[in-house]
Amino acid sequence: MKPYEVYDKDGSYLAVLYVDFFPRKGKRAGAWMTEYQGQRITKEGKNIRPHVSLVMNFSKPTEDKPALLRLGEVTTFLHEFGHSLHGIFANSRFESQSGTNVWWDFVELPSQFMENFAVEKDFLRTFAFHYETGEPMSDELIEKIIASQNFNVAMACLRQVSFGLLDMAYYTQQEDLKEDIIPFEKKAWEKAIIGEQIDGTCMTTQFSHIMSGGYAAGYYSYKWAEVLDADAFSLFKKNGIFDQATAQSFRDNVLSKGSTEHPMVLYKRFRGQEPTIDALLERNGITKSN
Ligand SMILES: [Zn+2]
Repeated sequence: MKPYEVYDKDGSYLAVLYVDFFPRKGKRAGAWMTEYQGQRITKEGKNIRPHVSLVMNFSKPTEDKPALLRLGEVTTFLHEFGHSLHGIFANSRFESQSGTNVWWDFVELPSQFMENFAVEKDFLRTFAFHYETGEPMSDELIEKIIASQNFNVAMACLRQVSFGLLDMAYYTQQEDLKEDIIPFEKKAWEKAIIGEQIDGTCMTTQFSHIMSGGYAAGYYSYKWAEVLDADAFSLFKKNGIFDQATAQSFRDNVLSKGSTEHPMVLYKRFRGQEPTIDALLERNGITKSN
């Protein structure tokens, strides 16, 4: 684990960021962001800055090779780094409203937003060079990656929507459910099912997210976060992915605000309007920009 002190561009202190990149004996698998100390402002006006931890389990370097990351690892890093930025830039009075302490369907905006950079040529050209030849990644390879990510994406989209509908159907049920769950399930996600449903299959009984794991009536947040992150990133695509003014606005209106105001209020202040699904459809290759 490596600690970094993070300073703002004017030199003021922002946070400590601990990065823990590689697996070791006894370490939990997976990747996550957490805080050892949350941000808050004391009664005396002292801004207690956060201690943020970014944990990964990257492919380790070997004796003759540096750590060579797979695309999935880069994307996961960007995701957790997005959560870390939400923590690092936090600037709220109360810790309970600070940084990533936001509503369930808003917390993945900064993280999924950052994932967009993983397939941006101008971003990759800043660091992604062949470790032996120094060659940058070719445009052709980047385009192939995007095309493969979009393979069957409309099906995957409907699948997520169907799960969201099913989850909502259970949690908006007012009376005891007396009917068989198979027809209940079929009716609940009807709008998102395009193929024939196979007899004897039942998602409800194997879909642990619905009943445990904290998603109760919140499963839609996966898809909703995609709508938000694609819509937010589309503004960067328009203004330039490194555009300082757009980035500053994202920081000032979203990342630093935690849950001090309603997410839609914060979002609109950054974006100038409510999100639409247009950018997501375009990113997925379902529609083309005109
Ligand atoms: Zn996340």
